[in-house]
Amino acid sequence: MVYTYNREAQDKYSPSSREPFLTLDKDKLFAMDTKKDHQYRLRIMTYWSKAGLFALGAKVHFGVGIDKRSVVCPNMIGDGICPFCQVQAKIRGDKKYEMDSSEVRVKFRYYSNIVNMETLSKGVVVWSYGPQIFFPIKQIMDSGEYGDITHPVEGRDLLIKREIRMGRVVDAVYPAGNPTPIADENWLDQLVNLDTILPEPDIKLVEKLFKSHPWKVYEPTQRFVVPNTVEREQENLAEPAKPSPSIPVSQNQDVSPDSRMDRVKRLEEKLRSSHNLE
Ligand SMILES: [Zn+2]
Repeated sequence: MVYTYNREAQDKYSPSSREPFLTLDKDKLFAMDTKKDHQYRLRIMTYWSKAGLFALGAKVHFGVGIDKRSVVCPNMIGDGICPFCQVQAKIRGDKKYEMDSSEVRVKFRYYSNIVNMETLSKGVVVWSYGPQIFFPIKQIMDSGEYGDITHPVEGRDLLIKREIRMGRVVDAVYPAGNPTPIADENWLDQLVNLDTILPEPDIKLVEKLFKSHPWKVYEPTQRFVVPNTVEREQENLAEPAKPSPSIPVSQNQDVSPDSRMDRVKRLEEKLRSSHNLE
């Protein structure tokens, strides 16, 4: 039996090069073009769970290790356990290590159920985007001026004008002038449970990538100082053990909405405190 090549199937089952860790069909993932100017009109769909989030946030290291892998940051399940973040905290702000620092820096990604008005026949897809778009959307939601823009009846489309200036992406985000109901009520049955799209961070893999990472200036021999065990134990004694923040990984797992809300809040706070919103 000789089979023939099926390009469509291959495309569908090849992980996206940018976010290969997502457990989501490539078909179902949408990201805006980073190379050309375009105006997008998207409808953010209503909440996929009772937690009431319009976006799932994630921390990601893009292109680390010798083979340039993209991985979910282990700090999402335990503060301070990510080796890349530990080094980054150490060398951040030091001009000498600028290239290394920006290369391994954790990036925030957000995922929302949306319909792209240019690909209506696809129905609901998962949109992957960065903080430069997440925060304007959140401000639109929080302002109270436009109501709940994700509402199926009273919500509004979202317009994003993207311009590429000198290689840099500049986005303007604003709500449509008038509320409109969604064009197809079947979309409500197509919502992706975003609690299932991120794998649990793989600390073993991240450590392996860390060992093989080709630093440009930073020398791994001058390893960051890990607090000694005694100090750590004392810290633990002084503070009652906190449950580590949980990250939902599968449908089977019962996910507390509070822990996810907390996570989103923490992500926001961290983002606000970082100067460089990219
Ligand atoms: Zn990290």
